[in-house]
Amino acid sequence: MMIHSFHGGIHPPENKHFTNRIPFKYLSVPQKCYIPLQQHIGKPATPIVEVGQFVEEGQLIGQANGLISANVHATVPGKVIEIAEYHTPYSEHGLCVVIEAEGSFSTSGKIREKNDITPMDKSTLLEKVKAAGIVGLGGAAFPTAVKLNPPANRTIDTLIINGSECEPYLTVDDMLMQTHPEEIIEGIHISMKILGVSKAFIGVEKNKALAIKALQNAVTNTKSEGISVVPLRTRYPQGAEKQLIYTITGREVPSGGLPMDVNVVVQNVGTIYAIREAVLFDKPLIERYITVTGKIVKKPGNYKVRFGTRVIDILEECGGLTENPGKIIMGGPMCGLALNHMDIPIVKGTSGILFLAKDEVEVNSFRACIRCGRCVSVCPMNLLPCDLGNAVEKQRYDIAEKLHPFDCIMCGSCSYVCPSKRPLSHFIKVVQTVLSAKR
Ligand code: SF4
Ligand code: SF4
Repeated sequence: MMIHSFHGGIHPPENKHFTNRIPFKYLSVPQKCYIPLQQHIGKPATPIVEVGQFVEEGQLIGQANGLISANVHATVPGKVIEIAEYHTPYSEHGLCVVIEAEGSFSTSGKIREKNDITPMDKSTLLEKVKAAGIVGLGGAAFPTAVKLNPPANRTIDTLIINGSECEPYLTVDDMLMQTHPEEIIEGIHISMKILGVSKAFIGVEKNKALAIKALQNAVTNTKSEGISVVPLRTRYPQGAEKQLIYTITGREVPSGGLPMDVNVVVQNVGTIYAIREAVLFDKPLIERYITVTGKIVKKPGNYKVRFGTRVIDILEECGGLTENPGKIIMGGPMCGLALNHMDIPIVKGTSGILFLAKDEVEVNSFRACIRCGRCVSVCPMNLLPCDLGNAVEKQRYDIAEKLHPFDCIMCGSCSYVCPSKRPLSHFIKVVQTVLSAKR
């Protein structure tokens, strides 16, 4: 097949060697889980439990509120000791259900009976995905049942599975593809049935040779028609939705548009795995694999973690750090969220935690633009990050508005290459926030 090449992109150091050969491990369940009711794009779930109530593992504790929302479940069995605001990845005052672990696990470690999906129609399958509270696990956290059910006036002909994992340091998708390829293929078949498509492509960067091999073998072994593994050039941000769609299909999502505008749905491999668990085993989304990494982490690795586990509890299980960190990031270094403390809980969209040493963190303040044009040449969205940055610095949001700031995918490539260390993607985030507030 013909592979297309998107404009721009960069090659930051991959730094995946810390964890890309370390098998998955389960982390112990923490004594207290701080489970945010907002772990997704859209409205927070509405709490349906009370303080003092005992809940089972996987019990619904937050009901999806409206179309763009997602259910939230108890990630551990125990007693609800508080429903209160805590700092979460999405808000400094996010409502959380705090559960103190107690009692036995009703599903973990038990033999599971597989549902037969043959008689299930699209709406039954979608209902299982929705009930399980699945959201995009690649980081976007958009409710999956909504994405799998586009409006009637849109025709979807292609499903693309995102196995690129182009963010430096993160290896959790790579490990999932290496170790669970047949389960991923099963999840793809379920998603294809829901969407009514006969074509699916799994895009994987070529730096994940073992994952590519494992998936190719799984496609052959399962005699899967219509599913192709597509090795992709290793280049950041290959995993961004619009770039992935263009690379594989040659279709360009229009400015302000969505993948469905070019008849495509994209799902991350982790999401596909969660869809399989929900449909075949009625398993709600209560845990995920994450990468815990950085040269100062004593036991870096890929760990299965319950949502609501705080970063501090995870770090303790990973043996702690060899020195005080210079920066802690939830996610990867390019798109992740900098944390200013470790009491924040893991949520559905958390792909990893990165601990950077002091000597790995830039402390220099930024300088004036020297018009070198590097940011323009790497921008995968063909924007003018330098001009956007200059306009925002002067608070000329009227000028910035004309430079298509909402097309920015916040990949951070421009900031990465800027010799003046200008925080360009941050500037663009500022203009997006200012203009959104005005609309
Ligand atoms: S302007 Fe936006 S899309 Fe372009 S390189 Fe910068 S962060 Fe990425
Ligand atoms: S990379 Fe930095 S210095 Fe060069 S044009 Fe862009 S903003 Fe200016």
